[in-house]
Amino acid sequence: MADIEEIKGTLHSWYIQNKRHLPWRETTDPYFIWLSEVILQQTRIDQGLSYFNRFIDAYPNVKLLADASEDDVLKLWQGLGYYSRARNLHHAAKTIAHEFEGIFPSDYKCIIKLKGVGEYTAAAITSISFNLPYAVVDGNVYRFISRLFGIDIPIDSTNGKKLFKELASEMLDKKDPGLHNQAMMEFGALQCTPQKPNCQECVFNETCMALKENKIDKLPVKQGKIKIKHRYFNYIILTGKNHTYLQKRTKNDIWRNLFEFPVVETEQKTEIDQVLKEIDRFTEVTNNTELEVSTWQKQVLSHQHIHYRFIQLKQTEEKPGTENLIRVDKKDIFKFAVPKPVEQKLTQLGWV
Ligand code: SF4
Repeated sequence: MADIEEIKGTLHSWYIQNKRHLPWRETTDPYFIWLSEVILQQTRIDQGLSYFNRFIDAYPNVKLLADASEDDVLKLWQGLGYYSRARNLHHAAKTIAHEFEGIFPSDYKCIIKLKGVGEYTAAAITSISFNLPYAVVDGNVYRFISRLFGIDIPIDSTNGKKLFKELASEMLDKKDPGLHNQAMMEFGALQCTPQKPNCQECVFNETCMALKENKIDKLPVKQGKIKIKHRYFNYIILTGKNHTYLQKRTKNDIWRNLFEFPVVETEQKTEIDQVLKEIDRFTEVTNNTELEVSTWQKQVLSHQHIHYRFIQLKQTEEKPGTENLIRVDKKDIFKFAVPKPVEQKLTQLGWV
């Protein structure tokens, strides 16, 4: 195995020369570091950057975020996906405001108790903001370590997680853990990339075991495949002259607390007549009701594929159903946080 001290030195020099200049790298303020880490989970940097700036503009400190309404936070988050991140962020901001008098805690044990904060985020905040020796292990770090040392133990197995965590901790520069952690992640993101890493020009190409053993495409190893669930949403658009109806997703499910058109969920892509039988809980459909049905489209989420279509009902007379819907003026609809399929439909209709 290559000398760890040598690896660290090489890595840090590479980072100083190659790192991207990003606003959260110009500060050690734990609020900014936390916000950037939460936004960047499952999000590309170019997309995350605009959201980070938007949040900092709207809520320059944790107290202002805590004071915001959840609807406003979700609206600002709209388009980023994985909405539980936004709900947890808001919940944790309230905890910091109420239990820590608005001062971000500096202790790992307190930080990891905040809603939505796992080992990775807690290590990033404590090392970057408070110079504490906690090693981060994210996808980039797994990939870099597994290739550098040629480790083929699955990264999602219990043993694998333990081993990679130990190795990352062993490699950690205790004097400057913040810089070291950022260097590890940046190296995986820019140099040791998932596809076709540029090994010819890599500073580790003389020591890298994966390169030596021609195993780059095989590492890191993952054992589990995620089982994808398919769901079928029939969105019902009830239109009056200047208004429509929305409902809030309140159940513990995807897109919780976002707004959408009333939806009939079916087991598969059913005939329209089947769906119409269920619409009476939203409105009464008569023979004179005009229908416009879109084709099926698909929204891919990490564990679910949402197949959806829109059924637009144009009614001369409104007959409310049993379910409570929110009547919304079309001109006000832009104020509501909605999931991507609904956002795209609203744009197509010219309502936002
Ligand atoms: S030589 Fe290639 S595989 Fe090895 S660390 Fe460098 S980029 Fe990654």
